Amino acid sequence: SDPVAPTIKNICVIGAGYVGGPTAAIIALHNPSIRVEVVDKDPRRIRQWNSPHLPIHEPGLNDLVRVARDGASHDPAAKPEAIRAPNLIFTLDAHSSIAKADLIFLAVNTPTKTLGRGAGRATNMASFDAAANEVARLARPGTIVVEKSTVPCGTAKRIRHMVETLRPGISIEVLSNPEFLAEGSAVENLLRPDRVIIGSARTTAGRQAAAALASVYATWVPKSRILHVNAWSSELAKLVSNAMLAQRISSINSISAICDRTGADVDEIARAVGRDPRIGPHFLKAGLGYGGSCFRKDIASLTYLAESLGLPEVADYWNQVNVMNELQRRRFARKVVQRLGDSLDGKKIALLGFAFKKNTGDTRESVAVDVIQTLLDEGPVEIAIFDPCCREEDILREIDGLVPTPGSSPSSLPTVMRVYADPYQACEQASAVLVITESDQFRNSSHRINGNGAQRRTAAAPTTAKSKLSIFNPINRLSHTMTSRAA
Ligand code: NAD
Repeated sequence: SDPVAPTIKNICVIGAGYVGGPTAAIIALHNPSIRVEVVDKDPRRIRQWNSPHLPIHEPGLNDLVRVARDGASHDPAAKPEAIRAPNLIFTLDAHSSIAKADLIFLAVNTPTKTLGRGAGRATNMASFDAAANEVARLARPGTIVVEKSTVPCGTAKRIRHMVETLRPGISIEVLSNPEFLAEGSAVENLLRPDRVIIGSARTTAGRQAAAALASVYATWVPKSRILHVNAWSSELAKLVSNAMLAQRISSINSISAICDRTGADVDEIARAVGRDPRIGPHFLKAGLGYGGSCFRKDIASLTYLAESLGLPEVADYWNQVNVMNELQRRRFARKVVQRLGDSLDGKKIALLGFAFKKNTGDTRESVAVDVIQTLLDEGPVEIAIFDPCCREEDILREIDGLVPTPGSSPSSLPTVMRVYADPYQACEQASAVLVITESDQFRNSSHRINGNGAQRRTAAAPTTAKSKLSIFNPINRLSHTMTSRAA
């Protein structure tokens, strides 16, 4: 029989980021009787969530969490139902939120370690552990703690020990509930998830806690989509899910390198191969590879796990997915340099798109950064950047400090990097336009370069640049561009 689930009245979400913010908004929307408080240690983030200018760009998110500017004088264009639900609160007061919560989501960032043992592969758990520690100290007995962040296998067990050490005799259940949303479609993914995975201890208390969390989701997610598994499976399933998606991208990109040396066309191959229902057509588009804060780091984490379990061949196998991804970016940037006569020599190059993909302003681990670095290494160059979703400050933070690798570029001409608010201005006088993301705005304007490198004009590119403009759209036709150059 189903275990009796404790009733949830107060939820605390720690981490008001890309996952915590939208997740809290959807839970609050579908559970009007639950008060959902989202806390963050970053005052700026909380201020932004409480302003009309949210800290993250996601289609549909504004309508969910927009706030009245001040009482009666809110945006007249906003529909009344588009004003934030009264049970969704963004606050800096973690102590009181944690202390009164029945259920706490840990949704803080878990990047790759840069220092110490496992650097470059293992997960940096400093933020997660700090948040878990605060919960262990302040939460009421019986509180359910939910790992929403992507964490290494065994974390739920470790957190349980942490609580037992800090508060002996207090029962706090720890569940794993990884998030599968994709940036750019977060609201849609949260509203209609393929699956909600809940990992728990195989004890009565574990099953009761899992049932309580399931009851929160069941207000909008069909029961058949809620999977109950053990905590290890749940933690590992998240890594495997990202690893397998990334693997498909690297697989097709590795084939695009072969296409580059032959007469084969990678899009035709993807179409042919994707018709096999056992393979399917999704995630088979050759391009610049994956960026963002998740795929690379989750594969690194999986690699580290395999290594630490004494499985070096398994570690090598998955690591190769990241290796292939890096190769693809370098191949692309080198091709651009070749096409421009092997010399950048103060030329202007426009990048359309800077976020790691379309419909997000997230610039973390943007492909553009690696492309720019490779271009800088080739010589002095003017880089012009436009992205419809990114904040200028976020782009500047990513490119700040990018300089030619010592010894790579002999010229003393200065390198200029600028962010533009207008794509036409970014492209003005450019020798090449690199389409980095598949934003619809650029997609519609994409044309491939033809075999002899003749110039094409696009809707996104200004007419003033038409005399010497090369457009590189790897998203649509990476291999073709490369093949035609080689031909
Ligand atoms: P993020 O960086 O956007 O947000 C994390 C937030 O946590 C930040 O605002 C940070 O200030 C806050 N924070 C850190 N330590 C804190 C503490 N001790 N107390 C309070 N606040 C604290 O990160 P994100 O992209 O939302 O990712 C969160 C987790 O979800 C990661 O583990 C990530 O791997 C996972 N995830 C992310 C995505 C995605 O698309 N971004 C998708 C699925 C899973």
